[in-house]
Amino acid sequence: MDPDLLADIRVAVAQLCANFGGEYWRGLDRDMIYPTEFVAALTEAGWLSVLIPEEFGGGGLPLSAAAAILEEIQRSGGNGSACHAQMYTMGTILRHGSAEQKRRYLPAIASGELRLQAFGVTEPTSGTNTGALRTRAVRDGDEYVVNGQKIWTSRAEHSDLMVLLVRTTPLTDGMKPTDGLSVLLVDMRDTVGHGLTIRPIRTMMNHATTEVFFDDLRVPAANLIGEEGRGFRYILAGMNAERILIAAECVGDAKWFIDTAVAYAQQRSVFGRPIAEHQGVQFPIARAYANMRAAELMVQEALGRYESGGDCGAEANMAKMLAADASFEAANVCIQTHGGFGFAEEYDIERKFRETRLYQVAPISTNLILSYLGEHVLGMPRSY
Ligand SMILES: Cc1cc2nc3c(=O)[nH]c(=O)nc-3n(C[C@H](O)[C@H](O)[C@H](O)COP(=O)(O)OP(=O)(O)OC[C@H]3O[C@@H](n4cnc5c(N)ncnc54)[C@H](O)[C@@H]3O)c2cc1C
Repeated sequence: MDPDLLADIRVAVAQLCANFGGEYWRGLDRDMIYPTEFVAALTEAGWLSVLIPEEFGGGGLPLSAAAAILEEIQRSGGNGSACHAQMYTMGTILRHGSAEQKRRYLPAIASGELRLQAFGVTEPTSGTNTGALRTRAVRDGDEYVVNGQKIWTSRAEHSDLMVLLVRTTPLTDGMKPTDGLSVLLVDMRDTVGHGLTIRPIRTMMNHATTEVFFDDLRVPAANLIGEEGRGFRYILAGMNAERILIAAECVGDAKWFIDTAVAYAQQRSVFGRPIAEHQGVQFPIARAYANMRAAELMVQEALGRYESGGDCGAEANMAKMLAADASFEAANVCIQTHGGFGFAEEYDIERKFRETRLYQVAPISTNLILSYLGEHVLGMPRSY
């Protein structure tokens, strides 16, 4: 993508974020409130629809643009997790939906009239083992009847639509566990209280995550995305983009922690000199910087491969792992540099520390990335 255009996007997003400073995020964090005004401002400015093609009313920009937007949000001290999924969850419709589904949903998602930022895959008993999921959808005339439960379905209370992965063909002996799964687009506006129950889960950070229960929920068969039974492949196809974008967010977090640590170390004086003069303070920050830059280069490599249509599975996974490690290292160093003040709410560090910790686990945990690399890149045996 044109570097000047990318630079302009960064400046514009940073200017928007400057209206939502630490005090705004701290207030929401304290009471676990969704950042409605921030998300509305991003929507109005068109930043959440950049990946939707222009013919459907979006920006028609490549993944690099979305990565730059999310990185800038995190770098400003904000938290894009409240709305990052609005950018990429629509990819399932874009890639696998029918012409009618695209025409019906994409323009409304691009304008912000419809929010599609809930993604129901994880279940309490299946966890990382998606093939073991139990939520069932049984065809009944021109509807599916859905029963089961999802957990960690983030933003479900702040979304109109949900991309839901369900089992449509019962698992039988000899069948590949990831076969027989299908993707349904659930319109939650009509169904909450009619077969769909959403319960918020309080977590260590303000993430609007929930558990969702399906009790004979009726979903029109017209809301099946793609072919029945091929849902796992469709979900998998969107995972590289998600991992690259989360990695870009982690790079943004790491930059915020490093800038914050450097500024404080230069201004904080003890024993008659700035603490930045001590190598014991300086070196951990410098190491965090080097690791952030290495992760940033892997994000660029993954973006390049993704945008040229090449296989980017290894790079997307490595970018996500390295960037999540870099942001968490920088978070830890930032607290250490601040001494006791690192724990005080008003500095925002402890909030950002909690927020960035998530990316060691979600949307894929570090162990699963390592086992992907061990098996698919290095050719070692699968361990599970
Ligand atoms: C705040 C939050 C938001 C989330 N948002 C969403 C969402 O919107 N939609 C959604 O579908 N999901 C969401 N998730 C779920 C997230 O993707 C999962 O938590 C994550 O994939 C790990 O699954 P699990 O929690 O079931 O852990 P488990 O699968 O139970 O794993 C537990 C631990 O064991 C390790 N482990 C498991 N299997 C292996 C193995 N074979 N080899 C080595 N180690 C292994 C894992 O690395 C992990 O550390 C969210 C989670 C959180 C916490």
